[in-house]
Amino acid sequence: MANEPLTPEPKSLNFIEEIMEGDQQQDKHQGRVLTRFPPEPNGYLHIGHAKSICINFGLAKKYGGATNLRFDDTNPTKEDVEYVDSIREDVKWLGFDWAGEFYASDYFQKLYDFAEYLIQQGKAFVCDLTEEEAKDYKGNFFKPGKESPYRNRSVAENLDLFRRMKAGEFADGEKTLRAKIDVQSPNMNMRDPVMYRIRRAHHHRTGDAWIIYPMYDFAHGVSDAIETITHSICTLEFEDHRPLYDWFLAQDVEGQFFQRPLPRQIEFARLNLTYTVMSKRRLLALVQEGHVSGWDDPRMPTICGLRRRGYTPESVRAFAERVGVAKRDMVADVGLLEHCIREDLEAKAPRRMAVLRPLKVVLTNMSDSDAFDVELPNHGDKPELGSRKVRFTRELWVDQDDFREDMPKKWFRLAPDAEVRLRGAALIRCNEIVKDASGNVTELRCTWDPESKGGNAPDGRKVKGTLHWVSAQHAVDAEVRLYEQLFTAEDPMDVAEGGDWRDFINPHSLEIVKAKVEPSLAKAQPSERFQFERTGYFAVDPASSADAPVFNRTVGLKDSWAKIETKA
Ligand code: ATP
Ligand code: MG
Repeated sequence: MANEPLTPEPKSLNFIEEIMEGDQQQDKHQGRVLTRFPPEPNGYLHIGHAKSICINFGLAKKYGGATNLRFDDTNPTKEDVEYVDSIREDVKWLGFDWAGEFYASDYFQKLYDFAEYLIQQGKAFVCDLTEEEAKDYKGNFFKPGKESPYRNRSVAENLDLFRRMKAGEFADGEKTLRAKIDVQSPNMNMRDPVMYRIRRAHHHRTGDAWIIYPMYDFAHGVSDAIETITHSICTLEFEDHRPLYDWFLAQDVEGQFFQRPLPRQIEFARLNLTYTVMSKRRLLALVQEGHVSGWDDPRMPTICGLRRRGYTPESVRAFAERVGVAKRDMVADVGLLEHCIREDLEAKAPRRMAVLRPLKVVLTNMSDSDAFDVELPNHGDKPELGSRKVRFTRELWVDQDDFREDMPKKWFRLAPDAEVRLRGAALIRCNEIVKDASGNVTELRCTWDPESKGGNAPDGRKVKGTLHWVSAQHAVDAEVRLYEQLFTAEDPMDVAEGGDWRDFINPHSLEIVKAKVEPSLAKAQPSERFQFERTGYFAVDPASSADAPVFNRTVGLKDSWAKIETKA
């Protein structure tokens, strides 16, 4: 038809892309785009950080630019090299390469020089108020601030005191350096904010060289300007800090430390996820209090946790793309994250048979010499993924869930007198149930139809159920870890209502079963992923070995999200 578009409509731009394209059209940075990802090395990265990484690296790539990795290490008490290493590994794993690797601590001397310059301009002063007093002087949203009694010290006195702060002549907390801006400002961040505090703490890079440390708001913009960042993307809670960010940089331009155009701060909404907590502080508590086995516990929303759970970098990037870039805080449904990994693994994970809760089946009319090989495709729709042989024998394992003694309506699996297909092998009929002293079913005695080799009977009779199975003689024992959500509430912080969010930790978030799996799975290498037929997607745990294979359930097969999405 005439009004049908010839090319698909371009995807609409998000608001950050609009800003970037606007800047490029105006040639603001000579077309340059340089972003940075600025983690504080005080914990492992989580899925929220992954979102930020995808935005920063993704946008830079889209506009022909680059991204720096900058460790925001201005708070020595909580930071550690362990975290630096994990952050580098996680960013790489997500599939991104950084242009430069920097540390805010590399800029300590430059920041100090800027601070002295501000003192000389009468725009910073040394303040003796205690933290408590300073808070009171600052006022609040309803109450204007009062000027510090130390605000009008002379430049010479301020310089002298600041140098002596640096030299270690004062105790921690005794003095601060503050910017002289406006204590009446409706924006609390502009009420003479602290630039430096005294803190005798060993820094993981600068050691004991410094005992005064710059505050985030001062250090961040200057670090951006030093690296000639064009777009400084951060989360929404920094929106009210933007005037301060711009104020520091404007002073630096006056002092000719930098030239325009300056970096521009842009805020987007933090990502939250249902059924988990996200802040590093709470994740650290989960680790330290032993609720999980570590930062990389497969139930954690950390990048290393997701990796161990079996998530692929592609699935995490697809998730970040689908949640989009918003200006208002949001909570993404963990179902969407699960949908993304399912979609990825559905296409590429080889299929295997694994019996999670084994129940013995003995084929009474089969002799050992009747055993035969069954050739099974590794992926029903992808012949290029090849096939493998599994041995069909007299004694087998099937899943306990596939048998019912009292058969409910519409039950197409095993039951007394019922006939089912064992995938790719043959039809079998259950004749007899063996029980132990306490009445538990321990074995099914069945017969197979030798005519049905391959799975279909020549007389054309139909069976509705097809079960997975493994040969008892050939199966390998494996530990399989079945994970559920770590919390029982969609938003643990919200339902806790100021009480303890730990009350909503799910006591059943991990079940370990002793499974019987296809022999080929013994050779599976850590990080390999499979679909266990009819069961779910599973990844080989890093601690797995051929002698003691361990599999982590990434996600089950049932996708409730896909349904929601097609309905919407
Ligand atoms: P947390 O509150 O979890 O400790 P943070 O903001 O202190 O996070 P940083 O290491 O300072 O962690 O964050 C590095 C970058 O990642 C920052 O630009 C920050 O805004 C961004 N970021 C952190 N958490 C999220 C999130 N939930 N969603 C999107 N971006 C995030
Ligand atoms: Mg932070």
